[in-house]
Amino acid sequence: MTEVILKLNLLNKKFKDLRNHHINFIPTMGNLHFGHESLIRKAIAKKGISVVSIFINPLQFTENKDFKRYPKSLNADLGLLKRLGVDYIFLPDASFLKSDIYTTNVSVGNITNLLCGKDRPSHFDGVATIIVKFLNILQPQSIFLGEKDFQQILIIKKLIKDLNYSTKVITHKIVREKNGLAYSSRNSIVSSSNREKVIEIYQSLKLIQTEIKKNKFINSKINFHKKKLIKVGFEKINYLEIRKEKDLSILGKEPAQCRIFVSAVIDGVRLIDNMKLGKLIYKKNFYLSTS
Ligand code: AMP
Repeated sequence: MTEVILKLNLLNKKFKDLRNHHINFIPTMGNLHFGHESLIRKAIAKKGISVVSIFINPLQFTENKDFKRYPKSLNADLGLLKRLGVDYIFLPDASFLKSDIYTTNVSVGNITNLLCGKDRPSHFDGVATIIVKFLNILQPQSIFLGEKDFQQILIIKKLIKDLNYSTKVITHKIVREKNGLAYSSRNSIVSSSNREKVIEIYQSLKLIQTEIKKNKFINSKINFHKKKLIKVGFEKINYLEIRKEKDLSILGKEPAQCRIFVSAVIDGVRLIDNMKLGKLIYKKNFYLSTS
């Protein structure tokens, strides 16, 4: 039976007895959708005990307005997690983190300053700090993370390595709606009149992926796709960039596995997505497929 734990001292007590079990941990911010569900099912299928946290981490929001309007659906979330058969739900209360008096900060370095870290400085420090808290409290053998937040995966892997945690990172592919749109908690706060437009993000990524496969993708087309998204109705394109999967550095003459990453704003809602491009080289302004 699923057990909901609100207080840190109760969690600590409980997990003292569970130390010799394999703990599979899935951190979330709630407003659960099929993407979360698929990730959680993967964790439950592994042997051991599943722990899902629901916590809207104030440290990782750079704007108070964004934090306040982050979508919540706690009752539905609890119902889903119980139906899925999750063992423990950790729902930290306000005492877990009083962001106004909390001063410790975990900073992972260079990789946190690009893509999502560029227009949201301190965002990934907030993510890293909360993850370190969870790793210390739960001491999980495995942590389950979705590729939708690809940069976050690399940052958490780096902090696990740098700080000598023994937790294994298990990743999960991006789960999409039939039309290609990546499931996201934030999709539900996009106005109904703009819901159709949001699909354009996926369509741009797909087109770029197809053109790269045909070796027809010249760098200047990135700007074309940015302009297209603006024309459709996005207010701002934070980035649309091809980067190496390994460390998110820029591709050069050496072939490397790459992804295209995007972040765009509509109705003031910040959406992200990414897509695998395979092994590429960059030559004379063209991204060329080597596989
Ligand atoms: P969040 O609640 O947005 O912090 O997400 C919790 C976890 O679910 C993160 O590891 C996300 O990468 C993952 N996740 C969110 N959306 C998706 C999706 N569409 N497909 C796969 N994983 C996802």
